[in-house]
Amino acid sequence: MSRSAHPAGPRHADVLPEGHYSAPPTDLNDLDPKVWAQTVSRDTDGVVTVGGIDVKRIAEEFGTPAYVLDEADFRARARAWRSAFGADADVFYAGKAFLSRAVVRWLHEEGLNLDVCSGGELVTALSAGMPADRIAFHGNNKSAEEIRRAVEAGVGRIVLDSFQEIVRVAHIAKELGRRQRVQIRITVGVEAHTHEFIATAHEDQKFGIPLAGGQAAEAVRRALQLDGLELIGIHSHIGSQIFDMSGFEVAAHRVVGLLKDIRDEHGVELPEIDLGGGLGIAYTSDDDPREPHEIAKALTEIVTRECEGARLRTPRISVEPGRAIVGPTAFTLYEVGTVKPLDGLRTYVSVDGGMSDNIRTALYDAEYSVALVSRTTDAEPMLARVVGKHCESGDIVVKDAFLPSDLAPGDLIAVPATGAYCRSMASNYNHVLRPPVVAVNDGEARVIVRRETEEDLLRLDVG
Ligand SMILES: *Cc1c(COP(=O)(O)O)cnc(C)c1O
Repeated sequence: MSRSAHPAGPRHADVLPEGHYSAPPTDLNDLDPKVWAQTVSRDTDGVVTVGGIDVKRIAEEFGTPAYVLDEADFRARARAWRSAFGADADVFYAGKAFLSRAVVRWLHEEGLNLDVCSGGELVTALSAGMPADRIAFHGNNKSAEEIRRAVEAGVGRIVLDSFQEIVRVAHIAKELGRRQRVQIRITVGVEAHTHEFIATAHEDQKFGIPLAGGQAAEAVRRALQLDGLELIGIHSHIGSQIFDMSGFEVAAHRVVGLLKDIRDEHGVELPEIDLGGGLGIAYTSDDDPREPHEIAKALTEIVTRECEGARLRTPRISVEPGRAIVGPTAFTLYEVGTVKPLDGLRTYVSVDGGMSDNIRTALYDAEYSVALVSRTTDAEPMLARVVGKHCESGDIVVKDAFLPSDLAPGDLIAVPATGAYCRSMASNYNHVLRPPVVAVNDGEARVIVRRETEEDLLRLDVG
């Protein structure tokens, strides 16, 4: 951060330095339901509660930082996706967003399937009792060992990502005397971003087999010839944190186009298409995500219309939301350690975690909200930057947000919408211990992933 880039001036709301933030909120005690988990509210004593438990109690009992996950909200979102898509479609939760055995059990109970993309995710899913035929195995470089375990376990599908993998999976399945159900992941030439999609440079990435130049058609030709494989469909995943349905529209059009070419060339109509995940959530009050029923309606209409045009039977659709299910259900609870006002700039608020528990801000320039949760305040808003305790100036959790000017060490603050890609991407940088995930529901709190300990760290260090 270069200080000289900013004009000097007062640090309160009348003159503000550059940055990406909206106007200060009218009431700093408000909790926008768009960005907070469903059961979050402020109690009469001013303390925020979730699942019927107040955050001060959570901090006392489990320590900070902690990811606090609203189980009722998770289940409600899973159920909403399940019921929006109905019996003629499948919803695969993308395990990479956040996976633990409790989550696997909730998904199983709510009728969802599960995507995994490594041996570690596969073993977590199987050990928590997810039936193998409801698991899809993804990844652009699955090892022979991982493929063998997946085929042996009987996973419902393996999503093939390269020509080598087509041969590899066929060979292993044959050796094991199996015929493995597979989909082929293609790149359709759409790269979706948050608010727009572009149709250039799209195939310049590591995932999938390009539709362009006939590569995807050639992959289908090869897969259809191999006894070890049962080709059930085509897969496309266009990106993440998407709000605009037009990228899916182009993707569905191109996937159906390939299905039509396959029918014309081989006389087979593949029974399934998977349109991937990527649906956006609200990280700040400025984001307006779509509801699962709107997404289901739009995708189903697009695919049905395209198939009618191509005179194909409508295939079974599957989708793979990760962020859209788990993202909004958790917040990270931190204790404020230091408050450092820099005149004319902003106030740096240091918390007891940082880029080791939330890398998304450093990695993607992600935006987050933040609120004081251990009490109410009537202090003025101050422009703050929430930073961690790591030895890195890019160790930023919330880049620009308003917090009360009476914020002090010992206050608890929380960053909402950290359910996805925070614990799952957490690291041990600076040998900081990864926080626990505490699930709350109906007045009860329980640890579903425990806090790392110094013994955990030392156990790996065998030198
Ligand atoms: C990451 C990923 C998803 C989930 O993406 P979200 O943005 O979390 O919904 C789904 N499918 C595939 C193949 C992915 O790689």
